[in-house]
Amino acid sequence: MQRTIRLFSYLFLFSLLASCRSQAPVSIPVPSPTVPPIVPPIELPALPAEQPTATPTPAPERAHYRLDTSLDYGNKTVSVDQTILYPNHSGETLNDLLLAVVPDLWPGGFTMTALSVDGTPISTYSLDGQKLSFALPASLAPETTLTVSLQYVLNLPFAEQQDPGVERPRIYGYTSRQVNLANWYPFIVPYEAKTGWVLHEPWYYGEHLVYEAADYEVNFKTDPGVVVATSGFAEPNGETTRYTLTAGRAFVISASPEFQVVSAQVGGVTISSYYFPLYESQGQIVLDVSSQAVELYSQRFGPYPHRTLAAVMGDFNDGMEYSAFYYLSRDFYNLYDGNPMNYLVFVAAHETSHQWWFERVASDQAENPWLDESLATYCERLYYETYYPELVPAWWPYRMYYYDPSAKMDIPVYAGAGFLPYTNATYFRGAHFLEDLRERIGGEAFFAFLQDYATQMDRKIATPQDFFAILRQHTGTDFSDLIASYFANSY
Ligand SMILES: [Zn+2]
Repeated sequence: MQRTIRLFSYLFLFSLLASCRSQAPVSIPVPSPTVPPIVPPIELPALPAEQPTATPTPAPERAHYRLDTSLDYGNKTVSVDQTILYPNHSGETLNDLLLAVVPDLWPGGFTMTALSVDGTPISTYSLDGQKLSFALPASLAPETTLTVSLQYVLNLPFAEQQDPGVERPRIYGYTSRQVNLANWYPFIVPYEAKTGWVLHEPWYYGEHLVYEAADYEVNFKTDPGVVVATSGFAEPNGETTRYTLTAGRAFVISASPEFQVVSAQVGGVTISSYYFPLYESQGQIVLDVSSQAVELYSQRFGPYPHRTLAAVMGDFNDGMEYSAFYYLSRDFYNLYDGNPMNYLVFVAAHETSHQWWFERVASDQAENPWLDESLATYCERLYYETYYPELVPAWWPYRMYYYDPSAKMDIPVYAGAGFLPYTNATYFRGAHFLEDLRERIGGEAFFAFLQDYATQMDRKIATPQDFFAILRQHTGTDFSDLIASYFANSY
């Protein structure tokens, strides 16, 4: 950091002097042996009394991740040279860092060969499961930055079969026809003033990670013939492709030599559907639903946050949302029968909506999973109301196939006692709550609230308190009985 400030000072001084010269051009008269040359006086602006070494480099709004990445598709290994420019917006002086390293959950899955902070090698660190922590060589004051550099190799796990007893889709790793890099790079977890670093334990279903918004530059290369779907906007750059993502939560890469792709434009957004051979009709349906959903949710909640959206067929058993990217299970493609009241359709509408309720407005997925999942499930209903209104009466009970009206929706992921009770509470009870709330306060206030919630919480991590505080800015109608019925906590 010191080096950065000194360099900045030199650059500042140099540019100041350079600009002095350019602002006061001097014409040199031809010298004469008798008349001394007349040189017009040059007015120099006063230089600062001291070099501005005390002026810190302004901290950028978000962290910046650069990932120079090489995927050896044949050997299923990934080599990464990574730098993180991290601004400390915590309001506190930080003396250590905590990074989530999910690939280290697999034995031998993550081998780090270099780690440094501002050029100082870090030889003492703790790498325990998904947690990489170390003391900083120097304290990081609020609103200053540091740069973490890492080099590592990922040895991808075989992910076609689930571990026994695990109900969540196993995405990270490879199958016989696909490599999926999800939560594949170390990232600095959010820091909260009272509780410190936020990194929850993984659970058998649902998600446990919490993401701050960050900017990404991923320079990626892999074997010839491998088709790549990512979270980023692609620009060819010689042997590599440069992908960029602004204010994203989680950068994902899916690669397969078998991928086929169809694309469409909605406004300024390029939407692409990646699928395996023999699934052309399903791939087109996913593209159509995603395009309709982006148009609908943009009108309802505000603009889609990125330039691209990739919808990707995945060799596992559910859908999953990431930045400008979502997966849909191969099972939904296999089950598709041409009927719009079908998992392929409503899960595509659901996952697309996570670009608002996950991506624009993030939340703690382990502690408050209802915050994004209730809204994403309710967005399925908005999709059908808009494009297939005649199906809503049949679709709603069909989708709520497992519904326990006594469940409380505000449970952490760890309290659901199984995948079905968990989804019943956070997805289905949550969607019922939103339907009752809309009926109670009226559609106009309901949608004004959702648009404002997306705007006020844009690029932030929302809490239930944020949700209800913004809701109450849009209605004076009493809904305390709904809170009592649907929530264990009082809000
Ligand atoms: Zn969801």
